[in-house]
Amino acid sequence: MSDVRIDDLPVRDELRGKSPYGAPQLDVPVRLNTNENPYPLPEPLVERITERVREAARNLNRYPDRDAVELRTRLAEYLTKTSGYEVGPANVWAANGSNEVIQQLLQTFGGPGRTAMGFEPSYSMHGLISRGTGTGWLSGPRGDDFTIDLAAAREAIAEHRPDVVFVTTPNNPTGNAVPPETVLVLYEAAQAAKPSMVVVDEAYIEFSHGDSLLPLLEGRPHLVISRTMSKAFGAAGLRLGYLAADPAVVDAVQLVRLPYHLSAVTQATALAALEHTDTLLKYVEQLKAERDRLVAELRATGYEVTESDANFVQFGRFQDSHATWRKILDRGVLVRDNGVPGWLRVTAGTPEENDAFLDAVRELKKEQN
Ligand code: PMP
Repeated sequence: MSDVRIDDLPVRDELRGKSPYGAPQLDVPVRLNTNENPYPLPEPLVERITERVREAARNLNRYPDRDAVELRTRLAEYLTKTSGYEVGPANVWAANGSNEVIQQLLQTFGGPGRTAMGFEPSYSMHGLISRGTGTGWLSGPRGDDFTIDLAAAREAIAEHRPDVVFVTTPNNPTGNAVPPETVLVLYEAAQAAKPSMVVVDEAYIEFSHGDSLLPLLEGRPHLVISRTMSKAFGAAGLRLGYLAADPAVVDAVQLVRLPYHLSAVTQATALAALEHTDTLLKYVEQLKAERDRLVAELRATGYEVTESDANFVQFGRFQDSHATWRKILDRGVLVRDNGVPGWLRVTAGTPEENDAFLDAVRELKKEQN
């Protein structure tokens, strides 16, 4: 065994002392910690994936379609159908998860000597991918209720003039959505300061009470909407994320993408899943109802809950959230401690999984009283 540690290696200075993304992957009966969809893909879709992948396998001696044109066409159709806002394949780009989409955006619009800003607490990978691409990270403010304080946000943008501004809606880990008016004000502030790119991360938008911000793309070439098939489509294992933006943005990210980054197997699987959009999205309604039930039951049990438009719920408040996380785990339920002091996050699972979680937190409340 070697006892060389990371810091003994000549790693880049900005990576020294940092931890990798590390949601625990523990083998416990009820896993409600990574905002996955709890429902396995329906069997007819599994069959269709098998067929499509078999076809793709026959051509694996060749590189895949570098521009993923068929897949981008189908994704554009999905966006147009669900938002009512016309999007074409030239507006859409796809990569291995929205994490890779974000990485490509930061490689294109961030990088050494540039900065990105997000309003924290928010999705931790925005900051981590920024560092990984040599982009300076600026933590913008949020109010005590976890909404974006517009005056403070505008001031931060004007002062720091970031090159990329992230807005996550619905936000992870807090769950609340950002109103379109807020995004517009942030966009204007970002344009006045630099101009910079505004990336709206809509990973959870299908679970929202409100609509996608896609129509805001009209006439705003510095706006990007990022999406994923990991949540609503129940396909986290597929690794397929995508963006919608002005065609110039799609051209620009192609300057940094690795050639043939999206394998033929990935493209075939995603295309099969998109043929079954209607079936997959049926689970979304069920999960939204379960999310609303979690909110109501947690409140009835005496917990505080942040308003949620996502497939997860932030609940508190705890003196020591990590100790509470451990007590819930001891009862066989894995939730997430995102490091937000006083709060934990639970993903909406199946009704049975949610019952197990609710039983565990009710027990904890009783113990406290
Ligand atoms: N954005 C947000 C806000 C997320 O919570 C996640 C996953 N947890 C992602 C992006 C990344 O998702 P993926 O890479 O699976 O598309």
